[in-house]
Amino acid sequence: MKTCIWCNKSTPHISFNKKAHIVPQSMGGTEICENVCDSCNHFFGANHDGVPPIELVFKETFNITRARLLGKSNIGKNKALSRFKSVYFNVDFVKNRIDVKPSFKLQTGFQSILCHQFKRSIYKIFLEENERVNGNSRDDKYDFIREFARFNIGDYPVLYYQSKVPFLLSSKDEPQKPNFYFQKKFVYLDDEHGFFDTYYLGHVFGFPIIRNWELVFDNYISQSLKQKERFYKRPISIKYLTDIDLTLSFMNA
Ligand SMILES: [Zn+2]
Repeated sequence: MKTCIWCNKSTPHISFNKKAHIVPQSMGGTEICENVCDSCNHFFGANHDGVPPIELVFKETFNITRARLLGKSNIGKNKALSRFKSVYFNVDFVKNRIDVKPSFKLQTGFQSILCHQFKRSIYKIFLEENERVNGNSRDDKYDFIREFARFNIGDYPVLYYQSKVPFLLSSKDEPQKPNFYFQKKFVYLDDEHGFFDTYYLGHVFGFPIIRNWELVFDNYISQSLKQKERFYKRPISIKYLTDIDLTLSFMNA
């Protein structure tokens, strides 16, 4: 019997025929979470009442950084990225300007919706990766992540650490083969501290892994800053995707 980490339903009532990539394949994801049912897998890639799919928002966001890192010479037919195209954004890589396309700007609250979907994508990846590595994602303590990422209940923060220095990639071919890093790079990241940090394409994000995160927030921030202050600025809780330095403007300095 197999049980889905998102809907808690089990076989034979649900099916597990499709491979559920933790990070989308087109974004370099190779790892699979075995315990995601077909219906939940489909959910993350699908449009619901005109709200952008969680997976698409993740791809759109990081494709900007990826295109920036790859540079013009690596974008084209048979290259690392076949083309740079965005559904939601106009991107000016020379001026480091990102703007939501005018047609979307007209929709009330669109920027906030995009950011909300992006935050859900980070929690979605966390719970699936945690299941793959630790096999305990069905634990009650993660119910808030299920509620938020899968059922859109509640709102939880994603903190963004902007780099201070033009030093960021963990390997030279990272833009070609990006990898979401879940290793515990920082010693204070354990269950007791209630927060987790992850690294992707030069960006560092922190997010809570306990529901009552406000209780541990100050402690997390002070410990986190102590470790990161050389390379990262004080984090911001993102409200818009444009809060993230997606074009890596500091690289031009
Ligand atoms: Zn499911």
